Amino acid sequence: MLFKIIILIALIAGVYYFFIKSKPIEYKTKKEKSKKDSEDIMVECEKCKTYVSSKEAIIKNGKYYCSKECAGVN
Ligand SMILES: [Zn+2]
Repeated sequence: MLFKIIILIALIAGVYYFFIKSKPIEYKTKKEKSKKDSEDIMVECEKCKTYVSSKEAIIKNGKYYCSKECAGVN
């Protein structure tokens, strides 16, 4: 009787663990998909070599900069 209960608990724990573990993967795929849709790519700053997203980057003379300071914009 006790053995049956242990098996049952292990089974529930296994299913529960699998469900919890599979969730972040699903979330990650969803996030990556939305990231691809918005075409948000990482670009390297021409001055300090810091990687910034294309949305946040400042484009000056066809080159990407992480901030106004790096771009030389006052
Ligand atoms: Zn920079």
